[in-house]
Amino acid sequence: MQKIQNFINGSLVPPEGVAYLNNTNPATGQVYSLIPDSDHRDIELAINAADAAFPVWANTPVAERADILLNFAKLILENLDALAEAESVDNGKPVALAKSVDIPRAADNFKFFAHAIVNFSSEAHPTETRAINYTLRTPLGVVACISPWNLPLYLFTWKIAPALAAGNCVVGKPSEVTPMTAFLLSELAQQAGIPKGVLNIVHGTGPKIGSALTCHEKISAISFTGGTLTGAEIARTAAPLFKKLSLELGGKNPNIIFADCNYDEMLATTLRSSFSNQGQICLCGSRIFIEKSLYSKFKNDFVEAANKLVVGDPQSENSNLGAIVSEAHLHKIQSYIQLAREEGGTILTGGNRVNLDGQCKDGWFMEPTVIDGLPPSCRTNQEEIFGPVVTLIPFENEKEVLKQANSTKYGLSATIWTENLTRAHRMANKIQAGIIWVNCWMLRDLRTPFGGTKSSGVGREGGLEALRFFTEPKNVCVKL
Ligand code: NAD
Repeated sequence: MQKIQNFINGSLVPPEGVAYLNNTNPATGQVYSLIPDSDHRDIELAINAADAAFPVWANTPVAERADILLNFAKLILENLDALAEAESVDNGKPVALAKSVDIPRAADNFKFFAHAIVNFSSEAHPTETRAINYTLRTPLGVVACISPWNLPLYLFTWKIAPALAAGNCVVGKPSEVTPMTAFLLSELAQQAGIPKGVLNIVHGTGPKIGSALTCHEKISAISFTGGTLTGAEIARTAAPLFKKLSLELGGKNPNIIFADCNYDEMLATTLRSSFSNQGQICLCGSRIFIEKSLYSKFKNDFVEAANKLVVGDPQSENSNLGAIVSEAHLHKIQSYIQLAREEGGTILTGGNRVNLDGQCKDGWFMEPTVIDGLPPSCRTNQEEIFGPVVTLIPFENEKEVLKQANSTKYGLSATIWTENLTRAHRMANKIQAGIIWVNCWMLRDLRTPFGGTKSSGVGREGGLEALRFFTEPKNVCVKL
């Protein structure tokens, strides 16, 4: 069986404790590879390698660093099909989605930050005629990049690309649930020409190596994407140690539909924003608010469209939904559907596990599920489910829907569907979220600030925000 290895100081190496965890294909329920169950010793080796590499990497000309990032982008695209298949097997997502979204975006992340860093500049502040202040931006040192399982290579590279571009050395910790494409990336790193120790990838569990990373004295910054509870734990550890923190956490995003919207476009996009990647995208709109006059038409059409979605083998190009990432996560989703029933909700469609034939007979599949009849305040409408489950909620007017949209502890993203742009701007201003889409969803421009408010996170990724996060500003005041 294939054994994934850590990538430390430029070499693929087994974990010090020679212990491994099972890595399961969620579509078959079968263990198909082994992942290092690394511990603090592997973290120590990785951090020391990064620390030793830092002085040279930090002083490597920006153009050379950018060239290495471009090599990564090129290698990812050359291996697109293999990486997409690996992502699909590891995560359960449809291979078509991995081919069209996850892997191209991983390449784009490297390309984007290669170009961004050569165009990055800092400020100067002339103080009348008395002095000139200028800001130096220097890399931080060794940084930790910790990523989740839902968009494995996409989100891992979204962190390591800006960190490396800015001149930091990285210890990356991909999710233990989906380690494969980060491992394949470490093989590509050797070909991309990245110097030894600049990028290190250590595999293992959050409690063992994630926490060893976040409390380590040589880690100057932590870029984390994952659940809100994990983010809180990391903040508790890192705050007294004064480490820089970027936390991208959970969401319970409202999708607000006014009767005057472009109906066909809204319906097609709402289907995607509800069920793409089996609803396991932090930006999915899981609470769908519909203006009352449109409610019954929308409900009928949406349920009909959801019923046509094919839940199937992720390797098949015909599958719209693949497998849920793990058995534990499937059980979590099922428990929320049970909760929705107990809270008085009506399951309009779905609600059940899907049993497939053939090689997927033991896989973890779930029907796209649409629920209505629940108040915005109930737990089903307040807590993140992170699966193919949405609720429909009617609303009377703008004021009411604003209050309901803002009623959760989360504030990641929101979508507004209306042809009335004055209203759209007004709503966009008042919705508590870091990202607002008007008449679209997941339309991404990598220059824009990305992140959430309230329990959805602290800080922003993307564009200049990421380069600012991964550098330390220092003001120099020169008297004239
Ligand atoms: P998770 O918090 O369980 O794990 C994320 C990563 O943190 C994994 O690599 C894990 O091993 C590690 N980890 C766990 N405990 C740790 C600890 N104590 N110290 C350090 N690291 C630790 O999240 P998940 O289940 O992998 O991902 C799903 C969650 O991620 C959802 O809540 C989703 O909304 C969120 N998410 C947010 C965004 C965003 O941009 N805001 C994007 C994707 C996913």
